Parts: sequence; C-alpha cells; structure tokens
Amino acid sequence: MGQCRLCGEKAGLLKSLHSDCASRHDTAIEDIQLTVATAAISRGHGVNLPVRLQQIAEGSFVTDLQIDSAAAEGWTIALKRVLDDHLLAPEEDRALAETADQLDLDQSKLGDGWTRLMLARTLREIGDGHYPSVNLKVDGYVPFNFQKNERLLWLFPDTDYYKQTTKRSYSGSST
Ligand SMILES: [Zn+2]
Repeated sequence: MGQCRLCGEKAGLLKSLHSDCASRHDTAIEDIQLTVATAAISRGHGVNLPVRLQQIAEGSFVTDLQIDSAAAEGWTIALKRVLDDHLLAPEEDRALAETADQLDLDQSKLGDGWTRLMLARTLREIGDGHYPSVNLKVDGYVPFNFQKNERLLWLFPDTDYYKQTTKRSYSGSST
C-alpha cells in the first residue's frame, strides 16, 4: 500500500498521491502566484501578503519554500507585465518594490527580475533628469578608473568594449 506524499495517508496500491491532494496543492500554488502578481501590479491595498499566503497554503500541503518560489514566480509575472511597454512608472516601481519587501523577496530570490527592475528604475530616473538612486554594488573587478565626481551607474558584465576611432590613411608620393 502506497502513501500519499502530500497528506501521508494511504493512497492505494502503487499510488503515491491522491488526485484530490494534488489538485489542492496546485490550486494553492496558482492562487499564491496570482495574489502576489496582483499586489505587485496594483499594490496590495493594505493586504498583509505574508499572512494571506499562509492562509492560502494552509491545508493545501504547500511548504514555506514553495510559498517563496510561487511568490517569486508571481512577482516575475507582474514585472513582465509592467515592463511590456518598456517603461516603469513610479507607481509601478513602488508596487513591485513594496510587494518584494513585504515578502522578503530579495535579489537572491528574484534573480534576473530584480536586475531588470533596478535597470528600469535607473533608466527612468535618468530619463526624468534625476541622479539614479540605485546604489550598484559590484562583486569583483570593475574595469574603470573613476574621477572624484564620477560614479558607476550600471555594469554590463561580459560585454565587449568598443571604442570609436577614426582611421585616417594618407596617400601621396614624394619625390
Ligand atoms: Zn493525500
């Protein structure tokens, strides 16, 4: 007799999962993604996200680790939607940042999405004529020497550096 790997009860011969447990689990994961995506797009309107996600997870065999990854997934869905128009409005930026903050979703959990948010913020601030607020920390070698009043705004790693030069050739003859 096999055991359900979600609820731990008997699952029947050669079975390791109740279909009911599986669908409760999957529905909860989707619900978490959607809840976080909605909050990250239009702000939570006072919803306590960590509490809300725990409520969804409860009784659906969703672990804290799975809550985290489903939340990160939902946040990334929101980011993609928001950046569809290649612009990050201040209120969009704020909703994404506050949602990440509420759920302790940091750079290590959001990965590439986090980088995209910081780059979009930097570009908006430059576009608005402001000095970018993103404080870039770089691990490792920075291949530039800065003057006193210069600061690193962004670093694209593994990028070839092209320098514009003008080639002149001289031809002629002398006798
Ligand atoms: Zn079960």
